[in-house]
Amino acid sequence: MNIRIGYGWDSHAFKLGVPLKIGGLAIDHPEGLAGHSDGDVLLHAITDALLGAISVGDIGSFFPPGDPRWKDADSSIFLNLALEEIRNAGYRIVNVDTTLVLAAPKIGPISAELRERVAELLGIKPSDVGIKAKTPEGLNADHVAQAHAVVLLQKVDDADELRAMAASIESEDQFEEVVHDLVSQAHEIEPRPATKPLFDTDDIT
Ligand code: MG
Repeated sequence: MNIRIGYGWDSHAFKLGVPLKIGGLAIDHPEGLAGHSDGDVLLHAITDALLGAISVGDIGSFFPPGDPRWKDADSSIFLNLALEEIRNAGYRIVNVDTTLVLAAPKIGPISAELRERVAELLGIKPSDVGIKAKTPEGLNADHVAQAHAVVLLQKVDDADELRAMAASIESEDQFEEVVHDLVSQAHEIEPRPATKPLFDTDDIT
């Protein structure tokens, strides 16, 4: 079966005076999430789930802890790298499901917007993104936000891709262009070197 599953988890402490960003969405709240990057706990969990699904390491393998380049970085950078990794490995996302665990702010009122934003960042439909939220009952963790994420990937079928491409052709010129691209690609394909983690990892992000 050409499917893979990935799981990711992350946590960040709340900090006064820091902008709050979850799932790539700026949220109006007195506290944000502390971190070397923008502290986007949800995008970090999804990034790890994507990397885990194709067994290429984790977010810290690619973005070393404490590297000044990632100070206050927008976490969509990390997500985009993971998306590129899964594309290069020949997979696409089937769906993503997530659970946020935090005492505040309430996610219910913004969950639709959050789902749209995460879907946009992942390049998938909002109906393929699950956003759930719980309060940390009994965990004594009211000043922490945690995120869990699972993803399902499916191997891209070359025949399906070709059929979709063929269906989109509307003129003879376009046909020639597509054939030309395919022939060029066939002559340029080289084996892709394995990705090596750059550094030992701790959670940077
Ligand atoms: Mg993190």
